[in-house]
This record gives sequence, C-alpha cells and structure tokens, in this order.
Amino acid sequence: MIVVMKSLATPGEINAVVNQIETLGFQVHLSHGTERTIIGVVGDDRPLQNHNFEMLNGVEKVVRILQPFKLASRDFHPENTIVEVRGVQIGGPKLTIIAGPCAVESRSQILETAHAVKEAGADILRAGAYKPRTSPYTFQGIGEEGLELLAEAREATGLPIITEVMSPEAVPLVGQYTDIYQVGARNMQNFTLLQAVGKTRLPVFVKRGLSSTAQELLMAAEYVLSGGNHGVMVCERGIRTFETATRNTLDINAIPLLKQWTHLPVFADPSHGTGKWDLVAPIAKGCIAAGADGLIIEVHPRPEQALSDGAQSLKPERFVELMSDLRRLAAAVGRVL
Ligand code: PEP
Ligand code: MN
Repeated sequence: MIVVMKSLATPGEINAVVNQIETLGFQVHLSHGTERTIIGVVGDDRPLQNHNFEMLNGVEKVVRILQPFKLASRDFHPENTIVEVRGVQIGGPKLTIIAGPCAVESRSQILETAHAVKEAGADILRAGAYKPRTSPYTFQGIGEEGLELLAEAREATGLPIITEVMSPEAVPLVGQYTDIYQVGARNMQNFTLLQAVGKTRLPVFVKRGLSSTAQELLMAAEYVLSGGNHGVMVCERGIRTFETATRNTLDINAIPLLKQWTHLPVFADPSHGTGKWDLVAPIAKGCIAAGADGLIIEVHPRPEQALSDGAQSLKPERFVELMSDLRRLAAAVGRVL
C-alpha cells in the first residue's frame, strides 16, 4: 500500500501519517518526489486494509499495490531512479555502457581491454574475478588477484568497475574493491546473497535468472531494496527457451515491461543473451530502441584466446563501430550517449 500525499501537504501532515502507520507496527519508506511525497508501507500490509488513511489531513489517495514487489514498483516511486557511481549517472537521459571481458585473465589483458573500452566511450569496466561456471573443470576466475587488477585498471582509466559476487561470505572482500556488485543469473534467487548486498551501500546490478520471470527479477531487486540499499539496477540477459541455435533467448519484451513496472535502471546484456558475437550489435541496438537504460557487453582483445565466453566477445574495433551506431540510435530515441 502507498499513501500519496497532496502536493501541498505539510511536513506535519506527512509525519502524522507516518506515525499512524508506525504505531500500527509497520515500517515506512518515504519518497520525496518533485511533485509530492509518497509514503510506502513496507512488508505484508494486508492487516492495514481496513484503515481509512484517506481521512487523514493532506492525503490525496491510498493506492493498493497489487504487484508483489513494492519498493521496486513505479507506483511506489513514479520517477526514474538514478544510481550514481563515481560521477556516472545511471538511469538518466544518458545511456550507460558497461564493457569489458567476461573474466579478468591477466594484468595485460584487463589493462589493454580497459583502455580500449574507455577510448571507445564506455562508462564502466566489467570483468569477473570469480566465475560461476557450469562445469567445475573449466576456468573459475583468478579470484582476489582479479579484484586487485580491476582496481588497477580503474586507477589507470578512471572507469568505475563492476564485478560478480557469488556468496554472502564474499560480500565484504569484493566490496573492498568494486564500485558495483554484480549478482549473476545463477544467483538471482540466492536470497542470503541478496540480503547481504542489501545491507551494504554499494550499488547492485541484478541479472535475470536463466529460468526466471520478469516479476521474479523484480522480487530479487526487492530483496536488496528492502535491506535499505536503494542503488539497484536490473538486467535482462536472456532466458532458456526451446531454441538451441543461440545460447539464450533475449526477452526483448521484458525491457519495456520492466520499464513500466519499475523505476530502477533497466539494462540488457546482448552478449549472454545471444552467445554469438555477430548477433551482439543488432540485439544491442534492438534493446536500446526498446528503452533500455544501458548495456553490458563483453569485449576481449583476442576473443579466440579468451578463457571464457570468447564466442560472444567483441573485438575492440567492433565495439568502437557499435558505439558509433549506438550514438546515432540514442539520438533517434531521445537519449544521449
Ligand atoms: C557474466 O556477466 O559474465 C555472467 C556470468 O553473466 P550471467 O550471470 O548473466 O550468466
Ligand atoms: Mn560471460
């Protein structure tokens, strides 16, 4: 349930509503918009249904939120949330491009890629130090050394960094290095991990699970938000379907749907969404046309030698080309890049 206050409601009237809700044993989440204040009731508020909050001074209306996500919902927070990371504004008019290799492999590989994507105009550097691999026999990432190398690449380029955290125990260590926690598709419903990153104040990038619905993705975001961490972004990265010609099926429907449902920045990952480097650019453009706030794209200087996901990684020169196409496309859809 949310209580929408009148635009001229006084601080005293707002406090009276908040006190009334808190007295009934519920927590509130206040959203001070440019137009009006919205008071959200956190948690299962069914016991409040018979209370006439409409009668209180300054209240314009009470809206029952039918969707199970609340803090993530646009009813709760009508304006787009802008997540700020080291001066990069994510979710505003400017598109945010995150690029880099699937994994940190070596010092020279990450530095070379970081410089290349920076030069091409990327905003944030990506790379995994810990990789959630389907097989225990394949490359698992280089661990903490990878985090150190990512921090060095940030120093060298000025690009903020994002990297995956796979367990609640790893949250403090990864948080010593990264600017954004990535929660991977395989961990989207690792609720203890979501709670652990929800207790931090670093932004969190949640990727849609392989077989999860768009609603479940927002429920994962809700876990993080309900811990008090409001810097959450969500990412469509392709789902399992009967189609086997591509690695996953990027659910382009999810992009405008998520934009309708949530105020959080919505990203797309055309690399994991397709699994094929030559499909990355067309799908990247499709996602921006569909309203995505940004993209996360795998770039590797020598994809044929990559230790993971080489087949879907763009060479730097192809990434440069894609960025120039995206700049023109951004203008056509009322965004900037
Ligand atoms: C990745 O971004 O490298 C990754 C492992 O993605 P996902 O969790 O979407 O598979
Ligand atoms: Mn990858």
